[in-house]
Amino acid sequence: MQWDHEIIIVGGGMVGAALAARLGHAGMSVGLVERGSAPAPLSGDYDLRISSLNARSLAFVKASGTELPEERCCPFRHIDVSNQDGTGHSLFSAEESGMDDFGLFIENRTLQYALWQRLANLPSVTCYTECAPLSTMAATTGRMLELDNGKTLSARLIVGADGARSTLRELSGISISSYDYHQRAMIINVETELPQQDISWQVFTPTGPIAMLPLPGQRASLVWYDSDEATKAREQLSDEALQHAIETTFPKRLGKLTRIVAHASFPIKRQHAKRYIGKRLALIGDAAHVVHPLAGQGLNIGLHDADTLAEIIMQGRDPGDYLNLLRFECQRRAANQAMIAATDSFHHLFTGSRPLRQLGDLSLHLAERVPLAKRMMMQQANGLNPFKNI
Ligand SMILES: Cc1cc2nc3c(=O)[nH]c(=O)nc-3n(C[C@H](O)[C@H](O)[C@H](O)COP(=O)(O)OP(=O)(O)OC[C@H]3O[C@@H](n4cnc5c(N)ncnc54)[C@H](O)[C@@H]3O)c2cc1C
Repeated sequence: MQWDHEIIIVGGGMVGAALAARLGHAGMSVGLVERGSAPAPLSGDYDLRISSLNARSLAFVKASGTELPEERCCPFRHIDVSNQDGTGHSLFSAEESGMDDFGLFIENRTLQYALWQRLANLPSVTCYTECAPLSTMAATTGRMLELDNGKTLSARLIVGADGARSTLRELSGISISSYDYHQRAMIINVETELPQQDISWQVFTPTGPIAMLPLPGQRASLVWYDSDEATKAREQLSDEALQHAIETTFPKRLGKLTRIVAHASFPIKRQHAKRYIGKRLALIGDAAHVVHPLAGQGLNIGLHDADTLAEIIMQGRDPGDYLNLLRFECQRRAANQAMIAATDSFHHLFTGSRPLRQLGDLSLHLAERVPLAKRMMMQQANGLNPFKNI
């Protein structure tokens, strides 16, 4: 049987586009199905959604020949974690962890645009935009995908990278477990009087963390986690009132804000697919798992899924071989489960009852006083092997 592509990826967000670019760079025939249109270049103000890319994610993106625009990337070398009353504090520095930096912050749309630019130059990749799957059916050596534009495509493997509400996951009958934190993350893009571009900091308060993620120039993305009600009320404030609320709640080190550029909020949930694979099918990124964003790892673990799957596919002869897909699931489920558990316990340790919060403070103390543990934690968070060089 002649298949249209070796691999079809549904969802051209950052994770799906990165996998398509990596496989296309290796010369494999890839079809990328995206519900929206191709991303437009960014101009002017910074996009509200930004993400940190750690060492492994960056290496994976670069291995596809994708170039990230330096002027829209902000590398950072320090991570400062503390609690509001000052009883727990830990400063992680890249140098101490044997790294040049911890990675960089980049706008989601800038990364997605850079990946799509790369795809446009890869002859073995075809992008099908403004269409979505209606049904899918597995055969012995491949899988069919019926689209809502009247087309039917086929491939030896179909990958679902279509986000938290994945249609492909639903069509394949894969269920999820989920948990609602009843919290929202308010993202506020600001311009600041003080430069603090090489550090990202996070302060735990009893109602949720507040964080500063640096952007190039004297800009920053502030993240304010709080209850649904408190966040919705805060979103109604005028810019002046919001600026005042930030300056009285965020630590003094933020300094004065010179401008509130934009803000929006997102609900916080965690979610895990019961299976990552099916017959000639695999799920990656948010389609497979959604983690609490407080550690900035959701996109990173999605890109690590794509990296692992790409390696396995490139080593084998049949991309949809079930034993290879099982290897993918075993490797990635264990790593993602550990990240879900870590971010979940961070949330409960720092926003739970008083005794739990004291335990959280103790963990920051320990991290500060045991350099080896600190270095291993940082390497793990960077997607590197923490046991190397011990
Ligand atoms: C407030 C907040 C802050 C975060 N900060 C960080 C951070 O600092 N670092 C980090 O690593 N992660 C962070 N994350 C998580 C990160 O944003 C996500 O994990 C990441 O965007 C997931 O990428 P994805 O490509 O898997 O899914 P998505 O970004 O959801 O992309 C899915 C793509 O599939 C397309 N699609 C959807 N349905 C269909 C369909 N039926 N057919 C075809 N196409 C479809 C969509 O149009 C989209 O292009 C944060 C999340 C939140 C909520």
